[in-house]
Amino acid sequence: MPYMSSRKPVPLFDRQPRPLCPVCGETSYSPAGIHPQCAVRRLDDERMKKMKLRVAQGQQEKFQPPGDTSPWKRACPVCRATQHVRCKSCQCGHVFAMRPGVSPEQGEAL
Ligand SMILES: [Zn+2]
Ligand SMILES: [Zn+2]
Repeated sequence: MPYMSSRKPVPLFDRQPRPLCPVCGETSYSPAGIHPQCAVRRLDDERMKKMKLRVAQGQQEKFQPPGDTSPWKRACPVCRATQHVRCKSCQCGHVFAMRPGVSPEQGEAL
């Protein structure tokens, strides 16, 4: 097509004020307005934040008292208080659904 080839395409960013990269603050020539390497850096930062958060949550789980997993104890699903398995109801008023021959965990689920 001779008509098309006679026109030189003008890059879009030459007509517009150049956007500043939100990560490093420098002028960015990419259509997204952010340097590709800066976009990667920002993604890495977010991934690191999430990873740290996950690690912190994992540590919190580890810090739970070991008595919670004892076969003679169970946690109330309402107030999270640990009760002896023989207690039929919690201090908060929650009544455990216990059946003969059913383990505390299964009894709670029912
Ligand atoms: Zn940048
Ligand atoms: Zn309770």
